[in-house]
Amino acid sequence: MKALIDKLRRDGRLRPAEYLRLIELADPSVSEYAARTARAVARERFGGGVFIRGLVEITSFCRNDCLYCGLRRSNTALVRYRLGEEQIAAACRAGHAAGFRTFVLQGGEDPALEDGRVERLVRRLRAEFPDSALTLSLGERSRDAYRRWREAGADRYLLRHEAADAACYARLHPADMSQQRRMACLSTLRELGYQTGAGMMVGAPGQTADDLAADLRFLERFRPEMVGIGPYLPQRQTPLADSPPGSADRTLLLLSLVRLMLPDALIPATTALASLLADGRERGILAGANVVMPNLSPPDVREQYAIYDHKLASGAEAADGLRELAGRLDAIGYRIDYARGDFRADL
Ligand code: SAH
Repeated sequence: MKALIDKLRRDGRLRPAEYLRLIELADPSVSEYAARTARAVARERFGGGVFIRGLVEITSFCRNDCLYCGLRRSNTALVRYRLGEEQIAAACRAGHAAGFRTFVLQGGEDPALEDGRVERLVRRLRAEFPDSALTLSLGERSRDAYRRWREAGADRYLLRHEAADAACYARLHPADMSQQRRMACLSTLRELGYQTGAGMMVGAPGQTADDLAADLRFLERFRPEMVGIGPYLPQRQTPLADSPPGSADRTLLLLSLVRLMLPDALIPATTALASLLADGRERGILAGANVVMPNLSPPDVREQYAIYDHKLASGAEAADGLRELAGRLDAIGYRIDYARGDFRADL
């Protein structure tokens, strides 16, 4: 097994059956070896620096009905909100003063967030924060929308592929959602020159080791600049509420494998991982992650962005908790890197 990890580090790829073996059979000593190797690779590229991104959750309205997500349209119990341009700009301003140089605007697929409205928002933030990167994560939109937002100044786009295996995707999404369309969106984003982020949940209901191996093969082929990987966490108002959370150990193993495959990638220690494990953020970094995304949303709406239960949005997961984050990173031998932290293949 350790030979497979060394091979992945050396070649950046494995055979499908080899990915499957690692996922199915890795025991704690193998996972620890993967983490140690992956963090050595990350250290070589990024030193002990961890990039920070300020996450603004701009709307909790969503037209989709993903079975795992608390924002799904069928969740009538959820109180919905949508931030105005002024509120979003104010959140970014506070973040900028705290030292953030990347702002991530994320939301459900809110029909009221028309292409032109987002375009105006991006243009405004681009003018107000010329030294900062703007990342969008607003789901599947038309090529024209993606193009207008890119031209208005958006630099990056996060759109997890969610599942590379078609049957796995179909178990997690209603019939009116299409995996092909999501994959086509990822290709369009890439073509338009966005630094593009993909990724998946680990331990989603019905997901098998084969499905995760398919995800690794997809990432190996697509080579996204950013990869988000977090455990599945149940949300009580969804049809999958009774499914247990994904395994933290398996999430960390997958994170390490992706770091070995894509040494230059920007990989967050996700909020989901930090919500599942008390030291999840630190464990993620020690497994090869090099990004954290503290929450910059106005405190009064944070609870309403309820994609899963028990989501952390305070302390080191909040923009006002950078001091705590710095202390926690220092304790494991890392530090906050305040740079924009764009993807660079030539490091
Ligand atoms: N609407 C946007 C943003 C979605 S929220 C989009 O479609 O891209 C960001 C990510 O949270 C999703 O891509 C999904 O992988 C993750 N997520 C949603 N529900 C989750 C849950 N119950 N547990 C863990 N992660 C979840």
